[in-house]
Amino acid sequence: MPLVVYDKNKHFSRTIMKFETKVIHAGIEPDPSTGAIMTPIYQTSTYVQDAPGKHKGYEYARTQNPTRSALEKNLAALENGEDAVCFSSGLAAMDAVLKLLKPGDEIISTFELYGGSYRLMVEVFSHYGIKPHFIDLNDKALLRNTINEQTKLIWVETPTNPLLSILDLKYICNLAQKHNILTCIDNTFASPYLQRPIDLGADMVHHSATKYLAGHSDVILGAVVCKDKKMGDQLHFLQNASGAIPGPQDCFLTLRGIKTLHLRMQRACDNAMEIAAFLKKHKRINKVFYPGFKDFPNHLIAKRQMAHYGAMLSFNLKTDTKRAANKVLNRTEIFSLAESLGGVESLIGHPASMTHASIPKKDRLAIGLTDSLIRLSIGIEHVDDLIQDLKKALG
Ligand SMILES: *Cc1c(COP(=O)(O)O)cnc(C)c1O
Repeated sequence: MPLVVYDKNKHFSRTIMKFETKVIHAGIEPDPSTGAIMTPIYQTSTYVQDAPGKHKGYEYARTQNPTRSALEKNLAALENGEDAVCFSSGLAAMDAVLKLLKPGDEIISTFELYGGSYRLMVEVFSHYGIKPHFIDLNDKALLRNTINEQTKLIWVETPTNPLLSILDLKYICNLAQKHNILTCIDNTFASPYLQRPIDLGADMVHHSATKYLAGHSDVILGAVVCKDKKMGDQLHFLQNASGAIPGPQDCFLTLRGIKTLHLRMQRACDNAMEIAAFLKKHKRINKVFYPGFKDFPNHLIAKRQMAHYGAMLSFNLKTDTKRAANKVLNRTEIFSLAESLGGVESLIGHPASMTHASIPKKDRLAIGLTDSLIRLSIGIEHVDDLIQDLKKALG
């Protein structure tokens, strides 16, 4: 049998398959040398050449790896992009996007940003002359007034963490396009099953694949999907030049996780909807933050731009103290107290002392992130058990 290698340039037709089929088949081919149906873990650093410079498309594994290429093609198809580039973490992926900028350039982003993304912009890229602005992206006048000649990137996260605010992607991307500003949407909380920003006008989609894409709390990996090939080429250049590549085993685990993305996401969203309704009626709870409620701000935008309302929700207590929150946090048995999200198992967290501890209390309170706020990442367990667990913990 002639030895054929993966054709990493083969264009994957993205119009013929539905999402549920793409998660399993897009970018995946039987292994050319053996017919293995699952993409092998190409645990190799280099590839033997037939003659100097005469190779099969793979020279050195920082630059190309077949397991990684399969994952990149799969992700590009899921987000309806032309290309995808994978990195060793979500923040490494963001780091590459920010390296598209030059000293003097400015970024506009939301003030409800993931803490690590905020830190990368403020404590790292500011030193290279790149200036971030964090504003309420729902304030259209403020957004228009913040844009100037130096604005080169708008970085958006929706739904936001941990208050689940919804931003209007279509409006923001259209406005950015008019001003020749790049847009990158952090789609970690929604996943492409619920929301596909490129279809709404975005240039790039960012993922912490650590969360829903890999989906089993066993891998750290990041990705950027690009609307056009040229941007993809630039990011592949940065991936190779700076070197923050994911290992082949992590790419394999992510590919494996993605095959059930639609099933996991659907179940987690259905569970979240029931849990949100249960919490809303509970007498000890003050407010539940969940975009699926008809009276939640921007509910109609969520309904338009997402296929479901997601599997993250937060709530605060009538007794709005850290002590009251701790009692609940200590009493759950199925919900594990941990940072992160998007795995098959349900997690519970306390943003004020965990993910958002570095934000000054005054700033936290200003955005509604109060002392008793509790965040849930809803998993795919039986919803009755999850509700029972919360009922008990709430006392
Ligand atoms: C976790 C997360 C990140 C960072 O990703 P890592 O894989 O941990 O580097 C970025 N954005 C959001 C919204 C996240 O939840």
